Amino acid sequence: MFQIESIFEWLFDSETCPLCRLNKPLNEPLCLGCFSDLAKNSTPCPVCAYPLNQPDESCPDCYGEWFHFDRAQSPLTYQFPLRELFQRIKQGKNPEPLFWMSQLLAKQIDLSRFGTQPTLIPIPSHPIDHALRGFNQAEIIAQHLSRYLQLPVDRHSIHKQHRTAHQASLNRAERKANLGSTFCCNQQAPSHVLLIDDIHTTGTTFDRAAEALKAAGTVYIEAISICRTPAQ
Ligand SMILES: [Zn+2]
Ligand SMILES: [Zn+2]
Repeated sequence: MFQIESIFEWLFDSETCPLCRLNKPLNEPLCLGCFSDLAKNSTPCPVCAYPLNQPDESCPDCYGEWFHFDRAQSPLTYQFPLRELFQRIKQGKNPEPLFWMSQLLAKQIDLSRFGTQPTLIPIPSHPIDHALRGFNQAEIIAQHLSRYLQLPVDRHSIHKQHRTAHQASLNRAERKANLGSTFCCNQQAPSHVLLIDDIHTTGTTFDRAAEALKAAGTVYIEAISICRTPAQ
């Protein structure tokens, strides 16, 4: 079992870039060269964070759609080298790249629309999937964001009721059917929520979790992820 606290301290104090192993500035997640190599989501749709070509372009991904979350933020796009890193995280059971990704995410999140302190809620995984992988990516990101942003994490309000097929292998219609009423809340949910996941694909997972949270009392939700993919 990796020691998340000690790795966090190492990362925070390290002068070594986790990607290229060259020197990096203290308190920055990466060296300037590696940071500039990441594909930034510089003109995101303000609703779903889809990477637009122009800021005033109408969004091809959420036009005609309605989501239970209020807005989405996703500072990077799912391209090299993030795509390969996420594939390795899922296959190799090594969550370490999530640590610097979370630090980078914390520096990019805009909290200006929250009039009150929001609560971080990671998208839950099913207990069987959690046991098989050994960790839930969303939970690791939420734990790190909590440290950087000094916000509480809630891991108890929402649960995943049954296992589902991997969303990545499904088209949009199949994703909606696949998730159904997967998520449920057993208690009153916080009023203002940053809902956390690693990758934002079509938004169906965020939407279903947000639906359950709003039924349990949440009034405002922003869907936060490290990177955004184009629709499939
Ligand atoms: Zn580097
Ligand atoms: Zn959109």
